[in-house]
Amino acid sequence: MKLTLLGMYGPFPASGKGCSSYLIEDGDTRILLDCGSGSLSKCRDIFPDLPLRLDAIVLSHMHADHAGEIHLFRYMAEFGKLNTPVKLFSPETDNLQYPVFETVRTYDGMQTTIGSLTLGFVAVQHAVPTMGIRITDSGGHSIFYTGDTGWFDGLVTAAQGADLLLADACLRDESNEKALKNHMTVAQVLSLRQKAGCNAAVLTHLYDDGTEYPAIIDRRCIYAVEGSVFEIISHDTK
Ligand SMILES: [Zn+2]
Ligand SMILES: [Zn+2]
Repeated sequence: MKLTLLGMYGPFPASGKGCSSYLIEDGDTRILLDCGSGSLSKCRDIFPDLPLRLDAIVLSHMHADHAGEIHLFRYMAEFGKLNTPVKLFSPETDNLQYPVFETVRTYDGMQTTIGSLTLGFVAVQHAVPTMGIRITDSGGHSIFYTGDTGWFDGLVTAAQGADLLLADACLRDESNEKALKNHMTVAQVLSLRQKAGCNAAVLTHLYDDGTEYPAIIDRRCIYAVEGSVFEIISHDTK
């Protein structure tokens, strides 16, 4: 299974960069995980031939920095530039009912199969209905994507043993109590990786507001860099 970071910013992308969007590939299976700004053009950079083929678009939640380009993908499908119907998974589906989409509302505990991949959904703690998503390939390798979430104890269980933790780490510290309900700090994500026994963590959903993020000393954790590609292989040592 391969993960490409198409866009890794929260709502304030840096110049020329994009909001939350991740491409998961496993053999012929292609899943777009969130589709914030820039995701459509980044997909076309990777797959220039039209129509574009995606097995599914999976939205963690409907905030614009994660779902902002869904209607551009709809236009693509309506103009025959994207395979139809496109399977579309989201915890909220009211504004996603279109003939080109095969829309499925996700819920806590739901499991589904897309091509060679199994997806498991867990409700996380955010301002709107939001799912953390575990993606597992046929070899048992897994990614757990937190979506946007504040810390809650169930997160450790949800992320348990994932090979790669892809986590919302937009807060630099705990100074903003209100934001802490909806997002994690860098330190919380480092702790989550350790407690859940994940092999590695990519800290994402960063804010580009001119303030530096703290340096990370855990060699199994890195900040997301747009365009990075990760091959998910078996655990070595925890
Ligand atoms: Zn967000
Ligand atoms: Zn959000």
